Amino acid sequence: MSRTPFIAGNWKMHKTIAAAEAYVAGLLPLVGDVDGIDLALCVPFTALQAVVDSTRGSSVQVYAQNMHWADHGAYTGEISAAMLNELDVHGTLLGHSERRELFGETDRALQQKVPAALAAGLKPMLCVGESEEEREAGETERKLRHQVQEALEKVPVDRLPDVTIAYEPIWAIGTGKVATPEQAQEACGFVRALVAGFDEAAAEQVRVLYGGSVKPENAAELLALPDIDGALVGGASLEPASFAAIVDAVRS
Ligand code: PEP
Repeated sequence: MSRTPFIAGNWKMHKTIAAAEAYVAGLLPLVGDVDGIDLALCVPFTALQAVVDSTRGSSVQVYAQNMHWADHGAYTGEISAAMLNELDVHGTLLGHSERRELFGETDRALQQKVPAALAAGLKPMLCVGESEEEREAGETERKLRHQVQEALEKVPVDRLPDVTIAYEPIWAIGTGKVATPEQAQEACGFVRALVAGFDEAAAEQVRVLYGGSVKPENAAELLALPDIDGALVGGASLEPASFAAIVDAVRS
């Protein structure tokens, strides 16, 4: 089973509308001829419309960074799938570790968000990963099992291949510390095996990405691993040149 590589940039809370438009103007000439790799930018809500408009017709997809599970309601400060759909975005990150650690995102909420995104026609990118303490205590698999099983519990089996799962060890995010190829492959292989627990055919199709200090220098080695289908890139996605250099490294 061949899975199309997927490279996504997570801008986090960076870029005004003007900065986002300048970025896209710089990026498109660098990745315009990319074929056979899916590309996405995960953009702050306020810049989504501008990035959807400026990437229209290109190979770059646009993702939000979070979404509420309800269609509408008394949820001050939240954004629904219907609101994202109106902007024509392709998908959304869900459960990024910064949302989990800083803003109280729970596995129980993700159990509602992942199927809600799918039902609305948005592609969910579910983030999972262990902290440094959990890894040192030998609890990586327990943590991943809990996160993946909870979040996918209510996803119809035939929709599992439409979920992308980003394995992001928290200790590697924004720290410059990268998981070794052995650690990354082992964890991503384990995530795929967890999907196989729901459906074996879906596990062959689902894309598992690695995230955590991915740079142009380490991207190709990580993406060559059998269970790693792409990368979720934070810091190195903030400049068009370094994001494009990661895409180039994977292409070659
Ligand atoms: C991220 O934000 O998901 C991430 C992996 O960040 P960084 O690449 O900066 O470690």
